[in-house]
Amino acid sequence: MALVAIVGRPNVGKSTLFNRLTNTRQAIVSDVAGTTRDRQYGKCEWCGSEFSLVDTGGWVVNSDDIFEDAIRRQVIVATEEADLVLFVVDIKNGVTDWDEDVAMILRRTKLPVVLVANKADNNVDNYYAAEFYSLGLGEPQTVSAATGSGTGDLLDLVVEKLPNAEKEVVENIPRFAVVGRPNAGKSSIINAFIGEERNIVTEIAGTTRDSIYTKYDKFGFNFYLVDTAGIRRKNKVTEDLEFYSVMRSIRAIENSDVCILMIDATRGIEAQDMNIFQLIQRNNKSLVVVVNKWDLVEDKSQIAIKTFENAIRNRMAPFVDFPIIFASALTKQRIFKVLETAQRVYANRKARVGTTKLNEVMLPLIEAFPPPSIKGKYIKIKYCAQLPETQIPSFVFYANLPQYVKEPYKRFLENKIRENWEMTGSPINVFIRQK
Ligand code: GDP
Ligand code: GDP
Repeated sequence: MALVAIVGRPNVGKSTLFNRLTNTRQAIVSDVAGTTRDRQYGKCEWCGSEFSLVDTGGWVVNSDDIFEDAIRRQVIVATEEADLVLFVVDIKNGVTDWDEDVAMILRRTKLPVVLVANKADNNVDNYYAAEFYSLGLGEPQTVSAATGSGTGDLLDLVVEKLPNAEKEVVENIPRFAVVGRPNAGKSSIINAFIGEERNIVTEIAGTTRDSIYTKYDKFGFNFYLVDTAGIRRKNKVTEDLEFYSVMRSIRAIENSDVCILMIDATRGIEAQDMNIFQLIQRNNKSLVVVVNKWDLVEDKSQIAIKTFENAIRNRMAPFVDFPIIFASALTKQRIFKVLETAQRVYANRKARVGTTKLNEVMLPLIEAFPPPSIKGKYIKIKYCAQLPETQIPSFVFYANLPQYVKEPYKRFLENKIRENWEMTGSPINVFIRQK
């Protein structure tokens, strides 16, 4: 999927535009710092095309001295990692020095750039758009993110300018992405997987960018590693930026089936790990957690392992049914196990439960613990089935009053499914529908 980045100085209306384009007005940031980043990453659909949208503004550290430099670096990352850049300026403010700086960076890239003159709320405002020609980025698209006017034309233009994703020919084998924050050990583990044996690595040619898939075929395993080149090719200027690892992760996650999330054992789980975890969840991908650099940890007792595992699962709750492997990319301890587990998790993603068996197991459980009645009305679940041909295992429960079955009960049903069939690592859907 193509990736579009919104750049621009603070207060020009980037997040308003982001909300407008993704229709995520209701998805508000949570009050726990670093947990929900909904306003910065979303999907946008227009006339049959779909792309991902990232608002760079959400990742700016707001302290005055490093501020401008931080945004400038963000723009550079965006030009390296995105497929198209939306450069937003404020029509009511005119061209600022900073706009000129950014325009200079953008003029140098080969990427398509769309100049967006925001806050064009009326015809008089539109008149001032001409000034922005001086940025050398072509015709400014006037929009009002606040009212939505002009955004349709803007989306037409974006879809038209997006590079035609040359479809890579990929075989129907598992696609694994190694993700995690900088220095967690992503390139090290990929090197451990691939080694220096060139003959087991086949790059798929035919795209303008580096291929994002590297085929791996060894020890009876057959799979793609996603975005291997991107992870191994490092950019020293920007790799410490959280935004950089997010941009890198998005592409890899979107194109994978199973994500191998690398956590640095010496640091434990931090907000940045959570952001990547949330990208995995929002894309409905399967998960294997690798606690890497285990060689550096002194206390390897069962208690220490349990404590570490619990800490991770507590952070990721309510999704807790995923494998955690303590490994070392450096000494290659349990590297094989990581691959083996990723294969198993991929298989779980494809799990099928027969309708008869499902009802045999689930209906007695439901009878013993039925959904709580609401307003004196009894809720009856009569029948359930797994939907065919879905991305992830999806189950429908048919009820007389589906609207009264709440989240906690759906979670109960999900847990019971997980207890009875192995779905470890895979997200699952539970739907309640009218009989
Ligand atoms: P960001 O810092 O670039 O993400 O900017 P925001 O989206 O937070 O918007 C900054 C301010 O500009 C807010 O007060 C918005 O309500 C306002 N704003 C955003 N878009 C428009 C617009 O199209 N017209 C007007 N008049 N105000 C807008
Ligand atoms: P990336 O940024 O996620 O790709 O991380 P790298 O693979 O570049 O690793 C960052 C640093 O951690 C490097 O200095 C690695 O040598 C080191 N490193 C990676 N994995 C391990 C490990 O399992 N044990 C130890 N001791 N060091 C590791």
